Amino acid sequence: MRGCVFKEPYKICIEEVPVPKISENEVLVNTKIAGICGSDLEVYRGKRNVKRPIIMGHEAVGVVVEIGKNVKNVNCGDLVVIEPNIYCGMCRQCVKGRTDICENKVIYGITRDGVFAEYVDVPSRFVWKIPNATSSYEDYVLIEPMSCVLRAIRRFNKTLLPSDNVLVIGGGPLGAIAAIILQHMNLNVVVQEVHPTRIELLKKIGIERLVDVSKDKADDDMEKYFGGSKADYVLDTVGNTDSFSQGLKWVGSSGKIVVMGLLGLKAEVEILRLVRETLNIEGSVIYTGDYIDAINLMSNTSLRQKLRKIITSKYKLEECDCAFETAMQGKGLKVVIEV
Ligand SMILES: [Zn+2]
Ligand SMILES: [Zn+2]
Repeated sequence: MRGCVFKEPYKICIEEVPVPKISENEVLVNTKIAGICGSDLEVYRGKRNVKRPIIMGHEAVGVVVEIGKNVKNVNCGDLVVIEPNIYCGMCRQCVKGRTDICENKVIYGITRDGVFAEYVDVPSRFVWKIPNATSSYEDYVLIEPMSCVLRAIRRFNKTLLPSDNVLVIGGGPLGAIAAIILQHMNLNVVVQEVHPTRIELLKKIGIERLVDVSKDKADDDMEKYFGGSKADYVLDTVGNTDSFSQGLKWVGSSGKIVVMGLLGLKAEVEILRLVRETLNIEGSVIYTGDYIDAINLMSNTSLRQKLRKIITSKYKLEECDCAFETAMQGKGLKVVIEV
């Protein structure tokens, strides 16, 4: 079979590799479409330690073509999405229900071969059947990043009110997914972005309140959209020094900043303000039990149509190097690969 193999930073190529063999608890999935994620770009840039050579990718939709003899939850021919973070179910975190931070996590495209290939072997617990699927594979390729976003939104904690102000920092694929879902929940959502091409795209896909923080009028725009008050919740999908300080600048008393961006770096927090305003700051990584909700949300036709617009480029597996170059430029939103 063909697979997109990471050789060294900025060097990937299509290679002929053996079709994986499955065990009695696994299924073989014929990949149909897969998305490029920020963490794939980290690997591509050589910023993340991975075994090499490795088949890249973790966001995939495919059809089950073979099942192990113990498998009961799916059948051959089922359309499925893959949950690509295999937790052990037995470590200290897993037994507390925190499978998102499993101590023995196996990650597709990072610690084992990924999904940018014709076939992938997956433990059957980590494939999710799409009920009443539409005829378009594209409709389900965002389930993985959507699950990350849903988990981050859950961290907002209390019952969300329509009057709640939410600031989404970063209008990349994660920020766009978050904004569309939060708008769907009728919250007052503002998205901060700096790249002009992305701002135009976000307008086109229906994001209503956008603020370009590189402009002088950014503060006025923020105040206008939040009616003179601050954010009840901030979702930082960037995770660098600037985004974090924007989050702190706009979060209101007793508000919460949830950070899911992975750019790292350092940030400063004014401790006195943290205490007096009882601010909350929380990290959010992947998901735990959110796939089912993402799949259910995708059955909503109007939401599905809006989310689909986040896919701005499509490439064939053979063109994976072009796909990565496009994703690296960061001008569009989600880049997907048809296998
Ligand atoms: Zn992802
Ligand atoms: Zn575990």
